[in-house]
Amino acid sequence: MASTSQPLSESAYSPDTCMFCSQSLRITTSAPDTDSESERPLERGEPTTVIDDVELHCGPPGSVPGGHHAHWACLIDHATAQARARAHGAVPPVPADPVLGAAVRDTGTETEARTYPPAFTTCVVCRQNILDPSGRFIVDVRNEGGETRGFDFGVIIEEEEFLDSHPSQVHSRAFHDLVAEGDYVGAIDVIAEHDVDVNCTYGNDGLTALQKAMYSGDASGVEFLRSLGATV
Ligand SMILES: [Zn+2]
Ligand SMILES: [Zn+2]
Repeated sequence: MASTSQPLSESAYSPDTCMFCSQSLRITTSAPDTDSESERPLERGEPTTVIDDVELHCGPPGSVPGGHHAHWACLIDHATAQARARAHGAVPPVPADPVLGAAVRDTGTETEARTYPPAFTTCVVCRQNILDPSGRFIVDVRNEGGETRGFDFGVIIEEEEFLDSHPSQVHSRAFHDLVAEGDYVGAIDVIAEHDVDVNCTYGNDGLTALQKAMYSGDASGVEFLRSLGATV
């Protein structure tokens, strides 16, 4: 652990709390069937505690995974706020650093040089590097779905940034997500409520929901979309 001056106090941090909001990584939720007007919440919709933990890999690139923790939403909020502030010139560019100043992302087909905002390169608590040797923001995620090690959180941040700059795409994303999840009732609701085109594209790849369903071998998704009149 670094012992230099830190924007967040190391002593105030515990591995059980979020590095941004200092709240517990165990969050209390109610079962979905709760009667909101009931004065006896314990009888129905028993509150349950779930883990909401993203663990950063603080340390030199390629070091042993492990470091500071944050809530999923807090990490997104922090990262997108940094990106937004930097886009408006409120945060100075990343200082020239031979290792961290310009992270290089190898996408497999092309090598894309990319400069990350400070929040993407170093931990705000220990100020150590949080990127892997190829410049990806790799974390370990623990939540209701279980534990996922080696998760590329940079993809999530890019998606949030994309929506930030393309706000009209929010409903297109919802439609694509619901079709992919097999929630066809929800997908039809989105079309009805937000006038979403069944052939809308979402994401930088410019694919429609039908194209995504076809490429992923989702036969029922293809059938559903064709029934709505989707075309390739
Ligand atoms: Zn938090
Ligand atoms: Zn750290």
